[in-house]
Amino acid sequence: MEIGILALQGDVSEHVVTLKSAIKELGLDADIVEVRRINQLSQVSALLIPGGESTTLAKQLKRFGLFQPIKEMANAGKPIMGTCAGCILLASKLVDQIGPRDVEPLALMDITVNRNAYGRQKESFERPLKIPGFGHSFKGIFIRAPSIVEVGENVEVLASVNNEPVMVRQNNILALTFHPELILDSRVHQYFLKKMIFEKRFLKMI
Ligand code: GLN
Repeated sequence: MEIGILALQGDVSEHVVTLKSAIKELGLDADIVEVRRINQLSQVSALLIPGGESTTLAKQLKRFGLFQPIKEMANAGKPIMGTCAGCILLASKLVDQIGPRDVEPLALMDITVNRNAYGRQKESFERPLKIPGFGHSFKGIFIRAPSIVEVGENVEVLASVNNEPVMVRQNNILALTFHPELILDSRVHQYFLKKMIFEKRFLKMI
């Protein structure tokens, strides 16, 4: 199986390293494909959208003709995980945009996101997160993080900070406002692989 990481912009290499270690930890048979073009997208069974700059990412998705195919991939039930700017792109609605207001999200999940809720770089912070099934807490690193200000009734909240959701799932879509690729702990990537890709495939087969 091939798992894609959108590699147009942002912290791609960190996700490659963390996803590789998650694949190894779980003993899975999977390869990673860096997705820049449509032929690479059509090869993959799941996609990870990294953090970076949502304005740039949104523009590049359109420029390289990936915007609509990613929507189709999600609608076909393939798993997609977005972190930080990736989470912004998954939202159905964006509010209070600072700076350029021309981010058109993919609208794959029933959440409303405030793009720059935590202001600029200096407002970055860390929080221990309690995530179901994780055992000990996970270190959440928030960098110019967006906030999820509203979730629809079909959205499951997996982790929160001060009662605000920071990790949410709606069927095949997973969104996080923090950066799980910046630490030596691949449990969020393992969750994506195990709960959203491999177990689902297995269930379909039996
Ligand atoms: N707030 C940033 C944006 O609008 C995202 C920051 C990040 O991905 N670290 O894209």
